[in-house]
Amino acid sequence: MRRLAIKVDVDTLAGFQEGVPPLLALFQERGLRASFFVAMGPDNSGQAIWRLFTRKGFLHKMLRTRAPRLYGLKTLAYGTLLPAPMIVASEPGLLRQVTADGHELGIHGYDHVHWQDHLGRLPQEAIHLELLRAQKIFIKVMGYGATAFAAPGWQCTAASLAALMTENFSYVSNTRGYGPYFPRFENRLFPILEIPTTLPTMDELLGLNGRTARDFNQEIRSRLRPGQSEVLTVHAEVEGRVYRDDFARLLDQLQTDGVEFSRLGDWAQELLAAPQAIPTAPVQEGTLPGRAGPVACQGPSEGQT
Ligand SMILES: [Zn+2]
Repeated sequence: MRRLAIKVDVDTLAGFQEGVPPLLALFQERGLRASFFVAMGPDNSGQAIWRLFTRKGFLHKMLRTRAPRLYGLKTLAYGTLLPAPMIVASEPGLLRQVTADGHELGIHGYDHVHWQDHLGRLPQEAIHLELLRAQKIFIKVMGYGATAFAAPGWQCTAASLAALMTENFSYVSNTRGYGPYFPRFENRLFPILEIPTTLPTMDELLGLNGRTARDFNQEIRSRLRPGQSEVLTVHAEVEGRVYRDDFARLLDQLQTDGVEFSRLGDWAQELLAAPQAIPTAPVQEGTLPGRAGPVACQGPSEGQT
């Protein structure tokens, strides 16, 4: 059996309003269930422009992936030239639609840009405040608290894990790696299940060495091996909008290949039924082909506790 968990990250207002509905339709037509992680608060995407000046490789990535086309010019002005709109509050019914369709729903931070650009400098209390703000919106709309969290921009620190431990998340998906584990920072082991993204993302590979969306689909298909479970992160802004047809083709091809789709939360439950079998691994800073700046990566497995 080849198994794939699709993790949909929703970073922006455009991704939420314009990307989520088509993705829900694509999944429904195929009888698939996925895991959605939504940035609950303001869309400050315009501030990401400042990464032009502070992060090597960002301009190159913006141009290669034609970011204005992917994200829309308006999105790139939010939080700078235009005020930052609130993502979930713009259409709370859409958040409820995600779970009504049978998908899992978790938190992808409060202010995505703030987390992605500043996490390394934030103390635990400031990070906890971001989590509380996100949970407050989630609870207001859903009537209960989120039990899953995925870090914006795959940014994760000891302080962010400590903050996440104080909320009742049953698992997190903060890093890039090769399989589920308990994360360790230096001497501190965090007893919270981490299920990393294991596959490259479309926006990373597009244009890298001339790759097309078709090449990306082919690469994902070849990475799914019998007996393996993989996690693919898609972006509502990308796969839900400009590259929707290519993503639909990938889903069809994977179904033809006999891939079984599962929600991250279901996999987490299976794993947590036998926690002693879950290995530990350090979280290390790393870089990925096609992605600007460092991300949190799973280090070599250290075996079970
Ligand atoms: Zn994101």
